[in-house]
Amino acid sequence: MSDCIFCQIVEGKIPSSKLYEDDAVLSFLDINPINPGHALVIPKKHVTSIFDIDDETLQKCIVVASRVARAIKKGVKCEGMNVLQNNFRAAGQLIDHFHIHLIPRFENDGFLTSWPGKPYEPGKMEEIYNAIKQNL
Ligand SMILES: [Zn+2]
Repeated sequence: MSDCIFCQIVEGKIPSSKLYEDDAVLSFLDINPINPGHALVIPKKHVTSIFDIDDETLQKCIVVASRVARAIKKGVKCEGMNVLQNNFRAAGQLIDHFHIHLIPRFENDGFLTSWPGKPYEPGKMEEIYNAIKQNL
């Protein structure tokens, strides 16, 4: 897609700090990192989200994510890592081209400091379970 920033990076029209590249997958440093070493892994072909990526492309992406994650860990000596993949605006997706965030983490770095889990109302978990299960 010509108006997609990540497609333009794939095509070399926009420069990037490429960490890894093969025929299907590209990984590069995020220019606005949560922490130094924050990288992205994207499929070279334009797909929008987890909802439209094919299995083969997804498998290639996650294998590269693992490989790059190990390199980031050694490279920046991080103490942890978040692997995040956002889908649509409600989930924080800003670029409509599937991407996996590899975010190196350090103790007390201020990112994702809470996980506001909420217990189900009585009976609600089974209802939600059934609503999801019938679609698998
Ligand atoms: Zn794209």
